[in-house]
Amino acid sequence: MTATTTRPAAEPASPAATPLGLVEVRGVHKSYGTLEVLAGIDLVVRPGEVTVILGPSGSGKSTLLRVINHLEKVDRGFVAVDGDLIGYSRRGDTLRELKEKDILVQRTRIGFVFQSFNLFPHLTALENVVEAPVSAQGRPRAEVEVEARELLARVGLADKVDARPRQLSGGQQQRVAIARALATRPRVLLFDEPTSALDPELVGEVLDVIKDLAHGGTTMVVVTHEIGFAREVADTVVFMDAGRIVEQGPPAQVLDAPRHDRTKAFLDKVL
Ligand code: ADP
Ligand code: MG
Repeated sequence: MTATTTRPAAEPASPAATPLGLVEVRGVHKSYGTLEVLAGIDLVVRPGEVTVILGPSGSGKSTLLRVINHLEKVDRGFVAVDGDLIGYSRRGDTLRELKEKDILVQRTRIGFVFQSFNLFPHLTALENVVEAPVSAQGRPRAEVEVEARELLARVGLADKVDARPRQLSGGQQQRVAIARALATRPRVLLFDEPTSALDPELVGEVLDVIKDLAHGGTTMVVVTHEIGFAREVADTVVFMDAGRIVEQGPPAQVLDAPRHDRTKAFLDKVL
């Protein structure tokens, strides 16, 4: 892939000129070989808002989150987070593609919580939370440790700071992962099906933590099939199918009065 194909097409659409949202996805296309996984996505997430993304398996939800977090490059369009163009640095009018090291720094401004927790197995809960602020952001370990303990307490794990992932339940591991995602003081949190890998009785404790964050004003994008959660917490519900946003709006509209047959069919299945 060349720099030209990934370069944002038009400066008038520059996020610095029109900062509509904390997250702005504009005209994003992404293909794997001949499969177009994102077929022109436009999404704006305003500061403090919770956006819930619904859609059938394979509709491109994870790819969209991965594109926002720069785990994948876009083929066309652009993503900006808090005015920063993802994958680029801006000096005056010049855009430069970021180098790997700078991508890691940019990624610390975005928290990502995966379905499968992805904790470092050999590190304690505390060490997992401390890692990125120290190694990627270069913050002093002592200061970060104080904050990490507070974050672990906030997700209900004050007594588990020294536990390693294998000593924790899935719900506890996911709460460590949420504390870890918060540790870099991100501008936005992305969740990719954060409760899908959990035993049913552990789902609630993780959703409760996410709800607390939402009520505290954390900006977030949550991919989930938990419709009750969407109804309670989402400012905007987005329904995706086949790489496109089919419809979006407040939960009462998309969940209770969907306009599109594909949304209706999906909701009939999951409700
Ligand atoms: P969802 O999260 O909505 O289930 P994904 O974004 O994971 O959907 O995937 C969308 C489509 O892209 C699927 O058909 C999937 O098989 C395909 N896909 C995802 N990642 C890759 C990849 N790295 N290489 C090839 N195909 C991929
Ligand atoms: Mg997925």
